[in-house]
Amino acid sequence: MSEVLILVDAVDGKVSKSTGELATFAKVIGKVNAVVFDAALVSQLSAYAIDNVIVCTGVDVSKFSPGPIAQSLAQLVSTKSATAVLITSSSKGKEVAGRLAVATNSGIITDATSIDADLVTTQAVFGGSTTVHAAVTHGTSIVTLRSNSIEPIAGSGSPTTEEFTPTISEAAKLGVVTSTQPAVKGGRPELTEASIVISGGRGTNGDFKPVEALADVLGAAVGASRAATDAGWYPHTHQVGQTGKTVSPQLYVACGISGAIQHRAGMQTSKMIVAINKDSEAPIFDLADYGVIGDLFNVLPQATAAISAKKA
Ligand SMILES: Cc1cc2nc3c(=O)[nH]c(=O)nc-3n(C[C@H](O)[C@H](O)[C@H](O)COP(=O)(O)OP(=O)(O)OC[C@H]3O[C@@H](n4cnc5c(N)ncnc54)[C@H](O)[C@@H]3O)c2cc1C
Repeated sequence: MSEVLILVDAVDGKVSKSTGELATFAKVIGKVNAVVFDAALVSQLSAYAIDNVIVCTGVDVSKFSPGPIAQSLAQLVSTKSATAVLITSSSKGKEVAGRLAVATNSGIITDATSIDADLVTTQAVFGGSTTVHAAVTHGTSIVTLRSNSIEPIAGSGSPTTEEFTPTISEAAKLGVVTSTQPAVKGGRPELTEASIVISGGRGTNGDFKPVEALADVLGAAVGASRAATDAGWYPHTHQVGQTGKTVSPQLYVACGISGAIQHRAGMQTSKMIVAINKDSEAPIFDLADYGVIGDLFNVLPQATAAISAKKA
């Protein structure tokens, strides 16, 4: 049976849902080995379809840039003769993947939205206008997968656990973390992790309250077009698109957003797209599964009230 390594992703001591998504993809390829650097996370991993947990000891990866993580994974690729390594498509994940590909002389595919049993991946490229199926042809398949690309399947029991002590070179420790600043958090889910995203654009005219109200009633994250973030109406950290974040939620609601190619690049792989726009000719309607032609200041409060009433 093929051995697959997945790199456990965690935020604030909590294993991210994306780890379960990696496990779900890995399960169709072979035996799922979850690699973790913090032993305190092990108990959370039984929630996902993981066969074996490898706890890397002897290195405090929080002190360094991703060098030691990549070096540890490279050693595990060799020890386990791994067929594939799956990593979450975050900026850190992609850095680990790049270093790992160099260290193992392997091919790399980033920002995939799926990988099948034959290690063939799917990517949306050129602003989402083209779908590419690709596979690594040299070495181990190093693949980063976008969050929210699959619904994680549940674990069916406790995985086995083993310890691994990697040998970390001095060169890998050259990138040192000198200080960290916790991200300012609201009560809403992280944009790239959320299963529902409600986004506002220039059509909000700077008033995001109706967008936030719908987001809160649905437990959703709030996104924004670049027109909205450039105008200073919403923080740049919430920008969705080519030069912002890429999201792939179960539901994306675009409110007062025209649907420019650069915005589509960041949300086109969403499973269900709803557009609210007062211009029936807006290009976002070409992409949307459902469209409401109307003023967002009329539509959103009604939707929020109806959902609240249904929940009550
Ligand atoms: C190199 C480059 C990178 C870029 N990267 C990004 C990116 O990452 N993300 C991004 O979003 N953009 C990006 N852009 C900008 C992009 O081209 C568009 O300008 C931008 O997405 C437009 O934002 P918008 O849809 O909010 O505004 P607009 O295009 O002005 O559209 C506003 C929409 O709101 C509708 N509207 C107005 N009032 C209402 C109302 N009351 N109710 C309902 N609908 C209403 C209008 O009919 C219109 O369709 C980039 C551009 C470049 C050149």
